[in-house]
Amino acid sequence: MKNFDIVIVGAGISGAVLAERYAAIGKKVLIIEKRDHIAGNCYDFVDENGILTSQYGAHLFHTNDGGVWEYVNRFSEWYPWQHRVIARVDGKTVPIPVNITTVNILFNKNFTKEAEMQQWLAENRIPFDEPRNGEEAVLNKVGEVLYEKMFRHYTKKQWDKYPAELHASVLDRIPVRENFDDRYFSDRYQALPKAGYTKLFEKMLSNPNIMVLLNTDYFEVEDQLGDYDKLFYTGPIDRFFNFRKKLKEKLEYRSINFVTEHLDQEYFQENSVVNYPGEEVEYTRIVEYKHFGNQQSAKTSIVKEYTVDHGEPYYPVPNDKNQEIYAKYKAEADKLTDVYFVGRLANYKYFNMDQAFRNALDLFLQLERRDTVRVANS
Ligand code: UDP
Repeated sequence: MKNFDIVIVGAGISGAVLAERYAAIGKKVLIIEKRDHIAGNCYDFVDENGILTSQYGAHLFHTNDGGVWEYVNRFSEWYPWQHRVIARVDGKTVPIPVNITTVNILFNKNFTKEAEMQQWLAENRIPFDEPRNGEEAVLNKVGEVLYEKMFRHYTKKQWDKYPAELHASVLDRIPVRENFDDRYFSDRYQALPKAGYTKLFEKMLSNPNIMVLLNTDYFEVEDQLGDYDKLFYTGPIDRFFNFRKKLKEKLEYRSINFVTEHLDQEYFQENSVVNYPGEEVEYTRIVEYKHFGNQQSAKTSIVKEYTVDHGEPYYPVPNDKNQEIYAKYKAEADKLTDVYFVGRLANYKYFNMDQAFRNALDLFLQLERRDTVRVANS
């Protein structure tokens, strides 16, 4: 007997979107989640100092996709939040992305006009027609001095690789501005969910057609699931096939060691996120969560992020070698019917949150249109 129509492995963005969409068209959905909570890496909670804190690093929602924005607004109220990041460089504090203020502070300039910044960039940048890796991408935009001060070591700490060993796309995530705009993102919609992401996921998964099984490893229960129509797998793609002993090659992931300190003081730093692009400390950044939404508390909590090899897989590592290995897994994945690999870990891609929403929504539309056609033709 069929208990569920749809089985989804993982309760992060991709899993929750597919569950919500399928439940809305009357399908019975089972989500199997290894962790003891929903919301994937977006999971947040109120900590002992009364501060809404993310367990797996700050999640800043930003998108130009009106459809995704409309969709996420169905499950939470949002407040506008323009994310800003500062970095400690040479004992100075500068905004990142690089903009006029960054150059003024680091090089004792007094630029006030875009033309002056353009001139400075033109004198410093090393042009590459088509940057082949992260180093060329940064040199092409800002040149050697800023590359050295702000990107080289940070990237080594973050990825255990220098920018030259990574795809240009990784470093291209951060723009360079010729004006004073110091916002981290320039998307049309930038906001945070009022009650946090976990609450948003609770709402997404509140349809009685959805059952969530926490603390459960899919690979330990897959034989007991009985029949169902479709499986959506949002975990690491290599684990899916390693488990079946089909392929063994290891895909690289970076993990983060989050070290939290609860402090008996009102504030620790002047901004939510402070980056440390130099070699003087091992962590990449310190996040002080109370800044998000200007939360009030007599105390504060900070989280230092150390990127490490082992632990929960957070970041796929985008370079040619990993892409080649991924292609082999993808070929295996494509041979399966009614099994879909969705999201950052299953597609081995460095998605932003809005892209994860978009991909899952598109997959649903694509499959259901196809099914509709199939039903109509039979
Ligand atoms: N990066 C850097 N210096 C910084 C911030 C970022 O070199 O101060 C590089 C680094 O390689 C990083 C990439 O830019 O992985 C993308 O940064 P982003 O902030 O998007 O990373 P995420 O927030 O996803 O960890």
